[in-house]
Amino acid sequence: MNIKVLWMYHTLMDLYGDKGNIEVLKYRCQKRNIGIEVDTCAIGEEKRIDDYDLFFLGGGADKEQNMIIADLLSRKESIKDALDNKTAVLLICGGYQLFGQYYKDQDGKVVEGLGFFDYYTESSSRDNRCIGNIAIETNLDGEIFEVVGFENHGGQTKGVKTAFGKVLSGHGNMYKSEYEGFMNDTVIATYMHGPLLPKNPKVADKIILRALNKHHKIDSLEPLDDELENKAREVMLNRILKK
Ligand code: GLN
Repeated sequence: MNIKVLWMYHTLMDLYGDKGNIEVLKYRCQKRNIGIEVDTCAIGEEKRIDDYDLFFLGGGADKEQNMIIADLLSRKESIKDALDNKTAVLLICGGYQLFGQYYKDQDGKVVEGLGFFDYYTESSSRDNRCIGNIAIETNLDGEIFEVVGFENHGGQTKGVKTAFGKVLSGHGNMYKSEYEGFMNDTVIATYMHGPLLPKNPKVADKIILRALNKHHKIDSLEPLDDELENKAREVMLNRILKK
């Protein structure tokens, strides 16, 4: 078994080390002898997105979002084919915002989004920038657990009907909001940098399962020794939730 990952605009949309998510996916597949092939996709590069099992788009400042949006919009049909064929998707922050209706940036410029989902994002005043550690509770593919990360976004995302999780501490989709991110049966879209996956091995494994299930029928993965990952998680959860 193997999975093919398409990593979009890897040199531009990589705020706060989102590339670390790719390293974790590679590690967790290789430890299980699951083949993993990671292709990058730069502006102007020809790619048939449905050829991949996982589509990954990291975060970026307004400048980078404006640099990539024309190219991303030009791939709308290709991305839609992939979504229709149950390709797994991981979107972080700026990448998350661009899959919605629009993103109104810090300068008030409205950046057209792919419009696949109903949510939309408008930058707030600088006083309401959402910055800091964050913890949420998610119900991801039937498993309830806490997820920890770091957020730094001016964008306030509204109109999310199915969130990634409930905010336990931090901001989430908006300044001091109750919910964070967007999720459905194939897409996880979140404001959580960190990067997200090193301290959240369960999220990484759920994403690998989703990617495998594009062409296979797999219910679970062989467990790995996550002692270090869980220790890092516990430190952050205790710090964030003041347990
Ligand atoms: N530029 C967007 C915002 O400020 C996204 C930032 C990010 O990807 N961290 O909301």
